[in-house]
Amino acid sequence: MILKNIGIIGAGTMGAGIAQVAATAGCTVKIYDTKTDALETSKADLERIMDRLVEKGRIDSEEKERIQNNIKYVNTLKELKDSDMTIEAIVENLDVKKNVFSTLEKFVSDDCILASNTSSLSIASIASSLEKPERCIGIHFFNPAPLMKLVEVIPAIQTSIEVLNTSVKTIKDWGKTVAVAKDTPGFIVNRVARPFYGEALRIYEEGIADFATIDWTMKNFGGFKMGPFELMDFIGNDVNYTVTETVFKAFYYDPRYKPSFTQKRFAEAGYLGRKSGRGYYNYS
Ligand code: NAD
Repeated sequence: MILKNIGIIGAGTMGAGIAQVAATAGCTVKIYDTKTDALETSKADLERIMDRLVEKGRIDSEEKERIQNNIKYVNTLKELKDSDMTIEAIVENLDVKKNVFSTLEKFVSDDCILASNTSSLSIASIASSLEKPERCIGIHFFNPAPLMKLVEVIPAIQTSIEVLNTSVKTIKDWGKTVAVAKDTPGFIVNRVARPFYGEALRIYEEGIADFATIDWTMKNFGGFKMGPFELMDFIGNDVNYTVTETVFKAFYYDPRYKPSFTQKRFAEAGYLGRKSGRGYYNYS
């Protein structure tokens, strides 16, 4: 089954990137957000990204136009009704996601696949909000979605084998490499990454080194492309903190995943990282 019409819910960092990936692969994409300014920002960002790709000679202006014309920005969830697959990329909150999934199911056809880009929440629990839970699956892109090759595909215990196979094929057709992972907190990458962020925050909190020194050390001697604080600023401290908190709770408060007060306070203060202009570093 070829999935042509893709609905994206959430026009933030991930939703905008996933829309670009699907539109580049030739799909017709509709992207919805509760905030009109998020839709406007993602449209303006795409224009800038496309211009840069044209300047670098990676695409020509016809390709730019084709990709941009493939994406429609919509103001109601109902407008996603003709989707073959929807991918949700909204706030990392189980109740909010479940509410969106159960509302969306009322509009779409019986064979529409309903996917979540959640980093850490239970796909089985999201699926339980549906009349047809077998159509639900986790499709977890990494940031930035157009550049990162890996996508984790996570079937819930309710997910049908057809939905799993179609999802894997679709994501491969979009040029990505797929790792199928079990429905456990953080799946593969986000689970391995928790102690990377957590230990870096603890090193800072114990006064051993500042953010820049920790990042510098990890890049120059650890072989990492980005240091932990640069990476948390890139991901967003709100999103990253919530994922750690979810994984910590989901593993029955295993201290290996204990969240950090430093990161909590940064998120509460609105020091979210690049997207707010200030995080562990200043971007303004
Ligand atoms: P974000 O804050 O950049 O964007 C979320 C968007 O969702 C916002 O524009 C917001 O207005 C919108 N939104 C919130 N509630 C909504 C609703 N009920 N209906 C429609 N739109 C709604 O967040 P993000 O970083 O793009 O993360 C989105 C999801 O992707 C989360 O589940 C997150 O865990 C996951 N994720 C994030 C990253 C990352 O690096 N940021 C990577 C992989 C997965």
